Amino acid sequence: MKIRDDIAELLLAGMPQAHICRELRCSPLTVQRTREALGLPAPKTCRVLPTTPEAAFAQYTRPIDGGHLQWAGPLKNRAPFFVHQGQHHYARPFSFRLQHGRGPIGNVTPSCTVERCVAGRCLQDRPMREHTNSLYKAIFGGTA
Ligand SMILES: [Zn+2]
Repeated sequence: MKIRDDIAELLLAGMPQAHICRELRCSPLTVQRTREALGLPAPKTCRVLPTTPEAAFAQYTRPIDGGHLQWAGPLKNRAPFFVHQGQHHYARPFSFRLQHGRGPIGNVTPSCTVERCVAGRCLQDRPMREHTNSLYKAIFGGTA
């Protein structure tokens, strides 16, 4: 059988079959046959599909002590990533927008050391990093 790249990508990223059906608007049988062709194990249980992107984001996160939020969902290009109703979202810019009420400028990077943290309060965009760097220079000096 011909394997659809988009289905294979989401299966390999660990997305549940029911989500893939909904996101890519394909039949469960198509996803199942793709899964079998790839030699992946059968799914354990079906979960309730999230109705909003915020709910989809939340289902992939785990609260960590200290107010951090660890990503337990799929990765794309090694970055936390999810799909909701056909819309692709990188988790960090999505969380940044929820936290700050605006889209990020430049890359979004974590300011903490928790692996795969996507807590909005831990995320910085370029202007925030530049501001932090200027404060360090003002306090500690330096010519860099
Ligand atoms: Zn954090």
